[in-house]
Amino acid sequence: MKSDKEIKKEFKIKASKNPEKYYAVDHLKKEGFKRKKCKCGTYFWTTTNSKLCGDPACSGGFRFIGNTPAKQELDYIQTWKKFASIMKKLGYTEIKRYPVVARWRDDQYWVGASIYDFQPHVVSGAVEPPANPLVVPQFCLRFNDIDNVGITGAHYTGFVMIGQHMFVPKEKWDQNKVFSDIHQWLKKGLGLPNKEITFHEDAWAGGGNFGPCMEYFSRGLELGNQVYMLFEQTSKGPKELPLKVLDMGMGHERNAWFTKGTSTSYEAVFPTVAKKLYKITGIKPEGKLMRKFLPYSSYLNVDEVDDIDKTWKQVAKKINIDVKELKEKILPLSALYSVAEHTRAALFAISDGALPNNVGGGYNLRVIIRRAMDFIDKYKWHVTMNEIAEWHADYLQPLFPELKKNLDSVKTILDVEYKKYQETKKKSKQLISNLLKKKTKISESKFIELYSSHGISPEMIAEYAPVKIPDNFYAKVSQLQKEIQPVKEKKAKLHIGNLPDTEILYYKDFALVEFEAVVLKVINDKVILDKTAFYPTSGGQLHDLGTLDKYKVIDVYKQGSHVIHVLDKKPNFKKGQIVKGKIDFSRRLQLAQHHTSTHIINGAAKRVLGNHIWQAGAHKQLDKARLDITHYASLTDDQVKDIEKLANEIIKENKPVYSDLMPRNIAEKKYGFTIYQGGAVPGKVLRIISIPDFDTEACGGTHLHTTGEAKLIKIIKTSKIQDGMVRIEFTAGEAAAKEIEHETEILQQAAKILDCKINQIPGRAKELFEKWKKVVKKRRIDSKDDFILHSKEESQDTEPIILKNTALILKTQPEHVVKTISRFKNDLMKKKK
Ligand SMILES: [Zn+2]
Ligand SMILES: [Zn+2]
Repeated sequence: MKSDKEIKKEFKIKASKNPEKYYAVDHLKKEGFKRKKCKCGTYFWTTTNSKLCGDPACSGGFRFIGNTPAKQELDYIQTWKKFASIMKKLGYTEIKRYPVVARWRDDQYWVGASIYDFQPHVVSGAVEPPANPLVVPQFCLRFNDIDNVGITGAHYTGFVMIGQHMFVPKEKWDQNKVFSDIHQWLKKGLGLPNKEITFHEDAWAGGGNFGPCMEYFSRGLELGNQVYMLFEQTSKGPKELPLKVLDMGMGHERNAWFTKGTSTSYEAVFPTVAKKLYKITGIKPEGKLMRKFLPYSSYLNVDEVDDIDKTWKQVAKKINIDVKELKEKILPLSALYSVAEHTRAALFAISDGALPNNVGGGYNLRVIIRRAMDFIDKYKWHVTMNEIAEWHADYLQPLFPELKKNLDSVKTILDVEYKKYQETKKKSKQLISNLLKKKTKISESKFIELYSSHGISPEMIAEYAPVKIPDNFYAKVSQLQKEIQPVKEKKAKLHIGNLPDTEILYYKDFALVEFEAVVLKVINDKVILDKTAFYPTSGGQLHDLGTLDKYKVIDVYKQGSHVIHVLDKKPNFKKGQIVKGKIDFSRRLQLAQHHTSTHIINGAAKRVLGNHIWQAGAHKQLDKARLDITHYASLTDDQVKDIEKLANEIIKENKPVYSDLMPRNIAEKKYGFTIYQGGAVPGKVLRIISIPDFDTEACGGTHLHTTGEAKLIKIIKTSKIQDGMVRIEFTAGEAAAKEIEHETEILQQAAKILDCKINQIPGRAKELFEKWKKVVKKRRIDSKDDFILHSKEESQDTEPIILKNTALILKTQPEHVVKTISRFKNDLMKKKK
């Protein structure tokens, strides 16, 4: 199969050989555009005599700065409002942006383009779009241009892609209409006469799909690109897609910038933030210098140059200024814009539920946050990311009011991140000075290693010694985070053949434990039935056990849409035979209690800790369950107590646990993207588990009918398992009762050995440990008192905390408290002669 790049290249040539078929030629001709070929090989459409296409490389950089041809001046907010209102009149529905964290996808962490919102299920035709046609202001994150931010005046890590989308069958596809619609934006929205617009014929390919596209430029700036996803690449060649997809993506930032004609796009995109930062830092763009510099700033795109130092010299020469002076003026200003830009990106990401950490997308987020903190530190600016985030949220409120609503939790997380950054800086001091003492030149790979394993940035090293920061450094470290790979099934695939999907009985009622079903296929010890109530291991929940007639069911798993029952031996079942299934109910109940409690604890954690809490993983066994949540610090005793208390209140309230099958688009609309707590879920129809006013998730497990059936939740232990992730281990139902009984037993035994009341155990344990250390370890005996325990210190804590603290005092695990106390006491008494 050909790569997307090859497909694109080939198709561009093919499409331009037959423009009538692939482009909106009727509309272009009607508007007076003529088709020409540029020296670069691209076919383009213009109403002027120009022989060159609109690409900045062909036509000499940006030519709209200080001189925009747009008749409409639109600020950042107005740009979207105007676009939406024009498109509404043309029949489009305006929808809200999706979160920038792509929870509905298992192949991407961040949303990188507006079409991501509709992949894979809408684009494939499996799910209805939220509206059709539609427009969306989609916030996106990309980390390949980090080093260009601030320098070129045009680059971003976080930006809004204005999307114009339509999903229709072939017979409803009208390319002239959708093309004319976007042309309306250029004419009526931006107020551009046709002579200021150039259209480029091009092609697009991605994920095996491809089609023609039309890019549009004005004065050297690409304003947008309208893509027509029409074909898919198969082993037999191109095939027409049953659903034609319109994917127009346009930079919101660029369009606003273009109408303003400001020297950098940042001044047009966050004018209030830029002004405040100029005032605080005393740095300001120098009008005269910027006018000279900016046309060449795009030359400093580190993606495209081999030697950035040389390019700086060339640019300085072109505008007739000393290169040192140029850098001294430009670099602090670009740092200022970077700080503002990175803060804006972080504000969206954290507000949408992302946490900076050391893995996956969280790592990318940390990279930009730390880069901003490095700049603030380096230039000793009296400003924090928290303040800047607030200014952004204020400015963006008319478009994205959610940013202001979530600001408190964004600030908390940025604060924690700042403390972590400071700690890293402190810790790295020694490492850096050792490194510099050796006076070896630090290679690029060494820089990258220092950053990725110790969090030491080149800027931190530069504080101690002059070092050259590698070109494109941040794009390189960002690439270290590979795309998320979906987890592969481990079991060997059975050749099932053409069987109908297994009808699932456990969705309807967790208490249904006896059923009859027809045998469809037997492969050795594995049986497939027409329907089953046996739950297969999935979603972190263990499978059921039980019997099929006289055979024991020892494992159950899912392959595609079939449930496979593994029996203790090969059965003598015949195809078409009716068998009786019976499920071990006590196991099923315990698992359902643990599973439902996972939802309860997740909901409780969100209320106690904040909206940034997401389920990062879950596992439900028989004796206990665990839930991993995204959180930036270890939990305190009080937080654990509050979560447990709230969870048990929900049990006491005996709320219903509803389970409904719901079309995906309706579920997303009704409950939002927080339904994807367990990650992306496949399928057109989702099973929504809802505890009213408390927790709603898409989930396929077995759940109780009411929260009361969970009986009791007991948190056993919490621990920080990695940066930004906390594990809560707990039990529910019978297992929780047993756990509590077990704890009480331990405390009673400990009290007996220490000869005290339960609330005196920590005091006595401490006394015992001190005396043991003195007498047994240091062999010092002063008096008979050394062998008597008489602490009367009483703890006010609850039993679980008493046990936890006693274990801490004795430096052991709670389950070893009795053993440890006995050993210390025996050791001590042996010394008593
Ligand atoms: Zn050209
Ligand atoms: Zn569930």
